[in-house]
Amino acid sequence: MKCSICKKQVEENFLKKPFGTYVKDAKGKAHLICTSCQIKFDNDKEKILAAL
Ligand SMILES: [Zn+2]
Repeated sequence: MKCSICKKQVEENFLKKPFGTYVKDAKGKAHLICTSCQIKFDNDKEKILAAL
């Protein structure tokens, strides 16, 4: 799984759950966002979507 913003590989935990969050865009498509990008965009969904 890769981050939708920085395109870096996102680590997964032992349950194969990525360390990141999913943000849905206006079309309902889910994008994986890594933790550093979440911090970079203040955990603000609007800012994250604008950066996609
Ligand atoms: Zn990222």
